[in-house]
Amino acid sequence: MSTNIIDQCVAQGVPFARDYGGLLDNRSFGGVLVSRTFYAKGQTGQQLLLGAYSAMNRQIGRGKIKMFNRHEMMDLVLVDGKARGIITRNLVNGKIERHGAHAVVIASGGYGNVFFLSTNAMGSNVSAGWKIHKKGAHFANPCFTQIHPTCIPVSGDHQSKLTLMSESLRNDGRIWVPKKKEDVEAIRSGNLKAINIPEDDRDYYLERRYPAFGNLVPRDVASRAAKERCDAGFGVNKTGEAVYLDFASAINRYGKEQAHVKGLDEEDASLVKKLGQDVVRAKYGNLFQMYEKIVDQNPYEMPMMIYPAVHYTMGGVWVDYNLMTSIPGCYAIGEANFSDHGANRLGASALMQGLADGYFVLPYTIGDYLSNDIRTGSIDTQLPEFEKAEASVKAQLEGFIGNKGKNSVDYYHRKLGKIMWDKCGMSRNEKGLKAAIKEIKQLREDFYKNVNVPGRINEFNEQLAKAARVADFLELGELFAKDALERTESCGGHFREESQTPEGEALRDDKNFTFVSAWEYKGEPSKAKIHKEDLKYEEIEVKTRSYK
Ligand SMILES: Cc1cc2nc3c(=O)[nH]c(=O)nc-3n(C[C@H](O)[C@H](O)[C@H](O)COP(=O)(O)OP(=O)(O)OC[C@H]3O[C@@H](n4cnc5c(N)ncnc54)[C@H](O)[C@@H]3O)c2cc1C
Repeated sequence: MSTNIIDQCVAQGVPFARDYGGLLDNRSFGGVLVSRTFYAKGQTGQQLLLGAYSAMNRQIGRGKIKMFNRHEMMDLVLVDGKARGIITRNLVNGKIERHGAHAVVIASGGYGNVFFLSTNAMGSNVSAGWKIHKKGAHFANPCFTQIHPTCIPVSGDHQSKLTLMSESLRNDGRIWVPKKKEDVEAIRSGNLKAINIPEDDRDYYLERRYPAFGNLVPRDVASRAAKERCDAGFGVNKTGEAVYLDFASAINRYGKEQAHVKGLDEEDASLVKKLGQDVVRAKYGNLFQMYEKIVDQNPYEMPMMIYPAVHYTMGGVWVDYNLMTSIPGCYAIGEANFSDHGANRLGASALMQGLADGYFVLPYTIGDYLSNDIRTGSIDTQLPEFEKAEASVKAQLEGFIGNKGKNSVDYYHRKLGKIMWDKCGMSRNEKGLKAAIKEIKQLREDFYKNVNVPGRINEFNEQLAKAARVADFLELGELFAKDALERTESCGGHFREESQTPEGEALRDDKNFTFVSAWEYKGEPSKAKIHKEDLKYEEIEVKTRSYK
């Protein structure tokens, strides 16, 4: 299917990189040792998005799709047990609207913002998925989160967003920290620069620990290794949570190659540096520029500083092979569902899944479901089920406006994010997870008592929209911690400290945990009931991969 996906995108005009002969080019990516990833410079995701948007806009222009910009899905409407519509809020004027349908498809993305700080767009949230969960859709593997190793480090308390530096940088960048604590201290106090640390005093820890994959180990392995070095006191920025991503070797290597090809002097260091920088600029120039704008340092001269950040959620709404949730007629596609990735999503596979779901799976499966409704007329939005759903949405919003508490919505979101990052982040243990469950519950109670949402319902009110989303994050966060507590093994992005090898690597327990945890809503997160869907592997042998 992957070749069909690429052909589809090329037809939509996505400018994939091409080799000299005009064929589509490939490059390597984290977790693999061969070049097999199609790419569009350092912007593959964005270009795919633009391609899909353009194709959709064409259909809007032809009248085949009706677009409701800036409308938020607030609840699902069930009629006779089937998904028959949604309640929305117009984010511009606050109007609550009813929409009837023969089927409902949720494509609302991932919930990484439960951590407050993440690489996701500020508007990303769990609410659509959570609303259908509360109406009967199981929520699977909520604790499976991907932490991406190549992000710009947190710089202080004022931040509300983290920036991803593309994974492609690990193709050429080498990751290291100083070997000596005194060098770390000197860097932090501004008395030493990274470029002045001799090679022998640098610890290229990924190359040391994983000689086969080196800097291209999968994201979860690279992230934990950075955390391990920083926890041991070798972090290279003021907060102690940063490692270097260094392009000096690549610049030198490419520069020598260019000098050789052009018949120039390979021993001329400044010429080699210039030629090498030109190659790196051609490959990653947009990313280097972005880094310089944010950090105010020139990454061609000084190693970049990076640290892991929340990036993708492998968990999500449970779906069957037809992408239908446990509610008849309600589907979930893309990052919003749990399918395809398990505990560990490799680079580039998110858009592969989104495109597969949207272009190659759902168009075939949903037709099968709709064929039973061929004689059902349009869905009447005056039905009592719509009335009830709308009334409960309005009641929630009125509750927020009328609360007149003392703390902002962001106050709660930030606090939740800190609990999640400290206790449910890159590594988790029983004590921390139990504490997280308790703390999130208390925070939720406090939120309903003391949150302050200014303004009115019937107007543009970003704080109100956020309040409803944070309310859902405060429930999801607890289920997330409960799921992580239940899974006492380590696997992929879920690292349980109690389950590790003597070398500190993730230790799976396939005998007891080869299943998907699908949670059923039972009134509140603490009462959620687990359904274990066994994973059966018929074509492949289940084994632990070694990156050494
Ligand atoms: C910085 C960054 C770089 C990435 N780079 C890559 C890459 O190179 N390759 C790759 O494979 N993957 C990449 N990913 C991951 C990939 O982009 C995402 O997994 C993918 O975009 C998810 O697509 P989606 O359509 O499922 O959801 P999204 O793209 O998140 O879209 C969800 C949409 O639903 C809307 N929405 C949410 N809730 C509601 C609601 N209640 N009502 C109405 N609308 C709602 C949102 O506003 C949004 O427009 C990247 C992710 C990030 C954050």
